[in-house]
Amino acid sequence: MRAADRPRWVDFHCHLDLYPDHEQLIRECDHAGIATLAVTTTPKAWARNVELAAGARHVRVALGLHPQLVAEREAEVDLLARLLSEARYVGEVGLDAGPRFYKSFDAQRRVFERILRMCAEQGGKILTVHSVRATAQVLQHLEWFLPGDRGRVVLHWFTGSAAEARRAADLGCYFSVNSEMLRSTRGRALVAQLPLDRLLTETDGPFVLEADEPVRPGSVIRVVAELSDLHGVAAPEMQTQVLANLATLVRA
Ligand code: MN
Repeated sequence: MRAADRPRWVDFHCHLDLYPDHEQLIRECDHAGIATLAVTTTPKAWARNVELAAGARHVRVALGLHPQLVAEREAEVDLLARLLSEARYVGEVGLDAGPRFYKSFDAQRRVFERILRMCAEQGGKILTVHSVRATAQVLQHLEWFLPGDRGRVVLHWFTGSAAEARRAADLGCYFSVNSEMLRSTRGRALVAQLPLDRLLTETDGPFVLEADEPVRPGSVIRVVAELSDLHGVAAPEMQTQVLANLATLVRA
């Protein structure tokens, strides 16, 4: 691999297609060497994302059906099923038991179970998983429906307890950390306990704001600096660690 082809940073969860300048963002990620996972919220967005990222060195696309959209879009899981064999990366998927989405929780569970079973059957997928107020249920679904040797999971914006973080790590999960998670004392304390060899960085842009503007993928550089503080290692070492974690995760 040529040096120019090697990523320098990692944004493992960004909604590139929800920014007004999607194509420009892909160029930014390539220019800055940010290995970016472009997650999608509906399988209808897959084709356009794949088309735009086709020539990109550092942008990969994930096939998703966001749990917050399942109330209106449960039927789209059939489209996801048809496309799944084309996708190495899957997300955003998961469960959301927050007050706005709890009414669709049964449907979310049906969809998540079906996606996990299909991923297990096909093997080799890497999933980025949403678990708002549903960490225990998400981990239970992973235990039931996605054996560790049939797929790998990155818990995005993890907000569970320290005990749940250990359980997730025991299941083989990685954790992608964004700047918003590091704003609260509780969030920082939790992130400080996550295993160093399972840490990735993300933005979850454009949903995360910094100075009232949606974050851009380059914001992961600051997340690496904060992770280095929290874990007591030098920033260049943390940068190397995150890149090594990504390499381990994606190795077939
Ligand atoms: Mn997201």
